[in-house]
Amino acid sequence: MSLASLIRSLEEVFRGSGVPSPRVDAEILAAHVLGLSRTDVHLGGGMEVSRADEERIRALARRRAARYPLQYLTGECEFHSLAFLVREGVFIPRPETEVLVEAVACRLEAGGRRPRNLLEIGTGTGVICISPARALGWNAAGTGGPRVVATDISFEAVETAALNAAKHGVENLMQFAVGDGIGFLKGVGGGEGFDVFVCNPPYVAASEIAGLQPEVRDHEPRAALDGGKDGLEFMRRIIPALPSILAGGALAAFETAPDQAGAVTRLLREAGALETEVVRDLSGRDRVTIARMA
Ligand code: SAM
Ligand code: GLN
Repeated sequence: MSLASLIRSLEEVFRGSGVPSPRVDAEILAAHVLGLSRTDVHLGGGMEVSRADEERIRALARRRAARYPLQYLTGECEFHSLAFLVREGVFIPRPETEVLVEAVACRLEAGGRRPRNLLEIGTGTGVICISPARALGWNAAGTGGPRVVATDISFEAVETAALNAAKHGVENLMQFAVGDGIGFLKGVGGGEGFDVFVCNPPYVAASEIAGLQPEVRDHEPRAALDGGKDGLEFMRRIIPALPSILAGGALAAFETAPDQAGAVTRLLREAGALETEVVRDLSGRDRVTIARMA
């Protein structure tokens, strides 16, 4: 069978199962099995696919049609133009989270101060701390031990983030910890306090989880999504503890649901934020709240 007809037939099946981007997913699965890039798949439609490869692609496609997440099938996802490893049990990075990384980078640049270190709670695949580590070139500094501390309550997440740090050449400046929240972190990072804090917490209201896409609802870790009754429970626990772990003048950034920016701004003010700002995602919805702490 030609690659082009195989992709067309997968696309049909995916469309019938309500897969949100049927063509792209068909191309990505074929590319994954055949060891090609998506561009190769585009250009190589006339190529013959062997029976064995066709069967391997169709086996993955059956799982995708049952709404199993694409990224768990390929073991990979893209964030900020970089490839990251991901697997079942670990939250799949979302494109809107790139806004958080960019907003932080942009404020650090405007402030003209090179931060000494960064803390992330709830690191998942590590995307939001590995990108700044690379961008800030902390690896080039070479001395002073770990500059980036990444934690998660999930062991699978921390293990995946550590693999991703190695994949992107920043493992020497990272320290990973498995644990709940912030309380267990006292003294980590040299005890001097962190200059930057980033967090994409679980923020979906518990009652809304049943209405999410099947990929998310049935296969992604609930602990990565469930923010309790109104989605804000994690923030209510973490934000008041921030002053105990941040250095004076630190930058703290949270991703939130669009209707949570006001509540998170208030929590940050109560915790001593001097300035706060809300940044929108590409669809124009409030997505990130950033504060300069006292
Ligand atoms: N930072 C990653 C990203 O942006 O793609 C993952 C974000 S995911 C929405 C939230 C993460 O917080 C999950 O990896 C979850 O395991 C972790 N988490 C949930 N509760 C936690 C807790 N009490 N302490 C630390 N991490 C927690
Ligand atoms: N935006 C995510 C979703 O679509 C939720 C992420 C989170 O809770 N941090 O499911």
